[in-house]
Amino acid sequence: MRRKQFYNRITAMGLITTLALTMTACRGAAPADSTTAAETTAAETTTAEATTEAAEEEGAYKAGTYTAAAAGLKGDVTVEVTFTADSIEKVEVTDHQETPGIGTNAVEKIPGLIVDTQSLGVDTVAGATITSEAILAAVADCVTQAGGDAEALKSVSAETNTEKTEESLSADLVILGGGAAGMTACMRAQELGLDVILVEKMPFMGGAISISGGNQVVMGSELQKNAGVTDDTVQSMVDDFMKNGADLNVPELLTLYAENVGATSDWLQAQGVTFDTESGLHQLAEYSHDRELAYTGSGAGAAEAMRQAIAATDATVLLETRATELLTDDSGAVTGVLASSDSVDYTIEAKAVLIATGGYGNNKDLLNEEMRQALYYGPVSSTGDGVVMATAEGIDAATRLMEYGKRYPNGIEVSEGIAKSTIGGNITAWTMSAILVNAEGKRVVNEKASNRTILETELVQEGQMLYLLMDEETFSVWKTKLGGAGISEEDIDSYLELNGSATPVFIHGDTLEEVAGTAGMDPETLKATVETYNGYVQSGKDEEFDRGADYMTMEIGDGPYYLVEQKPRFATTMGGLVVNEQLEVQNTSDQTISGLYAAGEVVGGVMGDDSPSGANNGWAVTSGKLAAEQIAEALGAE
Ligand SMILES: Cc1cc2nc3c(=O)[nH]c(=O)nc-3n(C[C@H](O)[C@H](O)[C@H](O)COP(=O)(O)OP(=O)(O)OC[C@H]3O[C@@H](n4cnc5c(N)ncnc54)[C@H](O)[C@@H]3O)c2cc1C
Repeated sequence: MRRKQFYNRITAMGLITTLALTMTACRGAAPADSTTAAETTAAETTTAEATTEAAEEEGAYKAGTYTAAAAGLKGDVTVEVTFTADSIEKVEVTDHQETPGIGTNAVEKIPGLIVDTQSLGVDTVAGATITSEAILAAVADCVTQAGGDAEALKSVSAETNTEKTEESLSADLVILGGGAAGMTACMRAQELGLDVILVEKMPFMGGAISISGGNQVVMGSELQKNAGVTDDTVQSMVDDFMKNGADLNVPELLTLYAENVGATSDWLQAQGVTFDTESGLHQLAEYSHDRELAYTGSGAGAAEAMRQAIAATDATVLLETRATELLTDDSGAVTGVLASSDSVDYTIEAKAVLIATGGYGNNKDLLNEEMRQALYYGPVSSTGDGVVMATAEGIDAATRLMEYGKRYPNGIEVSEGIAKSTIGGNITAWTMSAILVNAEGKRVVNEKASNRTILETELVQEGQMLYLLMDEETFSVWKTKLGGAGISEEDIDSYLELNGSATPVFIHGDTLEEVAGTAGMDPETLKATVETYNGYVQSGKDEEFDRGADYMTMEIGDGPYYLVEQKPRFATTMGGLVVNEQLEVQNTSDQTISGLYAAGEVVGGVMGDDSPSGANNGWAVTSGKLAAEQIAEALGAE
């Protein structure tokens, strides 16, 4: 049995990512956070020696301990910095609310890097840009308080000379990608006695589920039965998904999913991933039966539980290591992978390779024209590496449905091309008095209809957008529910200040006439829309769009009023590699590529052209588990 090894090399160079792998779902309109997988250009640097000498000449610091705070993703990040007369002796983050497993990577790494390099020019930690920048800003504040020159320290080189080495490894199974699919496969393969290496290009395992809403289909599980739904079936799930996916779904894969997601959900619980059964199954327009639950602690909670489960196994996890090329033998069978980190080029031989690299939403070359127009809010790690590697010449994997992504109708454009979601606030706002209106000030859809219906309505409106209209009472609650999507109340204040002059459009005014005027709507039309809607609330029946009576309990009341833009956003892609029911990748000649499997979002076709709620997490964990089982069987394990 392989000895447990965690290759999580932490050096200054190690954190200069060759890919700017920040999560775009992180806070900030700052372009840095919306960086796609472009090369990160290291800032111009002077030598550490020269600058340190300069600092010494200037007397460097007033020795002592100083504190400062700067805004992180989820709130203030507070640091305490101790200086001697000529050096930064210690940096400690004393308080923060950053996301476990993501922001906390920066909390763990940046302080040490600053001390090791005596520089504020250290690179941000991939996936934790906002937190890294908050720590650097707070330490810069302390440097200034201590009489040092923070600007000069930003130019001090944080680079160290690292010579690259070569290393050969071998395993039964190498898993490319440590998102929900890869981690689940790793957990199950370990249970089945396989020797596993997992390669993950980010500094942490988690992938999209870490920032996901954390909802999952649990059809057929004990969890669903215990929550009172005992009559759901594989067929009804397949029917609902086919309807939602415009019948483009691959029926065999969808059936495989529906047959196995229940058992997978129960198994996950045994692995430590728990569900919020107290809040119960969600009622959703796209489902004929209630079959979705949230993870305890949302997606981040599930990711953390999976990381802990893997840490308790013997799997070898190579973090900050990017798989670059599949290896084949003369017969075309896949025999391993090349992967590299900043310090090591790996050649990994394996009896089976599982591609679990996620989607391609952050790779415009793989998106069609229509998807390129939609705002993106997914992880920057979703660059379609698995598709690129598997479709390379000589491997020739087939793909399907690459033109589709799951679009939602409720994005706000926080920087060019980048969205954040208001869904968390909208869910509550529909229980209050919020309505959706178009650029003319008219209601055009049942606000409680499925995402798909609202999206389709939105796409045919002027500017492909709708407005969320809220009175003061609803807005004051709505705005408190957006923190999970990385939209703070300070962000909202700054958007309100723009008052529609730039995106994201957050128009406000004391009267309906005023907001209509700012939005370029006919005020009388907007007023009539509100009067008509309030009439429906009084009578208990929405004569136009049939919004459920449960969601029409409050009339639109007093101002101030708010109009918030609602635009299509996407994070998850629907297309990907063609696999058979054993999750083996197929080539363009309809043949199985021996030794090559795929699971999770990188697999195309399960959802059709759109996925219903909770479906992608459900597929990631189900296909990850199934792939491990198929591989174990093929290798004759247990
Ligand atoms: C903000 C957001 C909210 C969502 N909410 C929900 C929800 O509530 N319910 C739901 O069902 N679905 C949701 N989804 C979708 C769902 O979370 C994903 O489809 C699912 O988690 C994908 O899992 P995965 O393991 O296939 O891919 P990923 O999670 O993308 O994992 C792929 C991993 O592979 C790594 N990787 C990529 N390329 C390489 C390489 N070359 N070498 C090494 N490693 C590599 C990546 O860094 C990443 O860690 C949401 C997605 C987002 C972004």
